Amino acid sequence: MTGYTELAERFGTPAYVYDLDRVAAAKRDLFAALPEEAHLFYAVKANPHPELVREMCAGTGRGCRAEISSVGELAAVLAAGASAADVLYTGPGKTEGELTEALKEGVRLFSVESLGDLRRVGETAGRLGVVADCLLRVNSASASASTSIRMTGVPSQFGFDSETLPALRDELTAVPGTRVAGAHFFPLSNAKDEASLIAEFRHTIAVAAGLQDELGVRFRFVDIGGGFAAPYAVTGDRPVYGELRAALAETLDAHFPGWREGAPRIAFESGRHLVGDSGTLLAGVVNLKESRGRRFAILDGGINTFGGMSGLGRILPVSVELHGPQEPADQVASLVGPLCTPGDVLGRDIPLPALAPGDVVAVPNAGAYGPTASLLMFLGRPAPVEIVVRGGDVVSASRIEHTRAYAYGQGER
Ligand SMILES: *Cc1c(COP(=O)(O)O)cnc(C)c1O
Repeated sequence: MTGYTELAERFGTPAYVYDLDRVAAAKRDLFAALPEEAHLFYAVKANPHPELVREMCAGTGRGCRAEISSVGELAAVLAAGASAADVLYTGPGKTEGELTEALKEGVRLFSVESLGDLRRVGETAGRLGVVADCLLRVNSASASASTSIRMTGVPSQFGFDSETLPALRDELTAVPGTRVAGAHFFPLSNAKDEASLIAEFRHTIAVAAGLQDELGVRFRFVDIGGGFAAPYAVTGDRPVYGELRAALAETLDAHFPGWREGAPRIAFESGRHLVGDSGTLLAGVVNLKESRGRRFAILDGGINTFGGMSGLGRILPVSVELHGPQEPADQVASLVGPLCTPGDVLGRDIPLPALAPGDVVAVPNAGAYGPTASLLMFLGRPAPVEIVVRGGDVVSASRIEHTRAYAYGQGER
């Protein structure tokens, strides 16, 4: 592996380094943890970098399908060589323009979040003379007891409230341009351990089977969601799920006897688990200062580079490792970015080795929810460099660029 310090010198900081070998390993391990018959969707929002999407959907070993929720993500998937026919299009705010583009490109599988959403898909498909397969996204009235992050059972812009679905049956199955193909669940993200992941899947499978009975519609496709975990910007390893495959098979046998023959097809989704440990964030130390007894290390990238989604108002669990000669932590300091807002904090009072301006710090497990989940344009700094490596060699180095496109008025003066 090319050294981080060398990469930082060559391409500058802040920079992300993504290792495609690790992406391939995560994909291989997750496929191995799931029943052979399962489909696996890669949630492109976790990291839409074209080389990562290519590795996921068209790379070595079994291929993931792509789960997207914008035409920008669709473009990334198509550019990576994946087929629109394998895409699942999700999200609560699909506009007619986006649906038209997706359907024209060949997307035929949609997750719908309400009757209005289903009808909009149907109207657009009808206008184009095609039929869209729709999965009813379900906001289940109940969650498994061990669910810690409740994304279900509460009022939400996501999904049909499960208790309302049976009464909607006739309307749902009569929307021209659509076919109700099955159900989509996503009750959990980043499960705390394998036992809670299994408990959630068991619960979801039972709810899905019950719903199929209540609706009297034979499901051809059931997406039972995810929850596969990954360390986020802290040291540690991606969890290995050794019990999952057998537990899933047993539960599916009990509730969907035809699942092994694809009736229904069973799908899972993952973002962070597949790409999280492939990425390392490198940032340069610009300055050190003390204020009223507290130390600050000021980096050349902050929430404009990483963790912008949680950076405002929440403390990010960052643990920094210095590459090169490893010195033991000898002080406590806050790691802050260069932005003119007190919210630009990557870690508060964390143990750090002695740092000097010019040093490069490396944040591990930063491959998911990186640049595109950050406040990239806030304060107008360039986006971080994204360096892709495989087998220790640099494959590419690039950065996202923003340009203003004028729809009206003078662009040049
Ligand atoms: C965000 C999202 C995912 C990915 O979540 P991870 O925690 O990164 O695995 C999967 N499915 C849906 C519907 C999502 O919104």
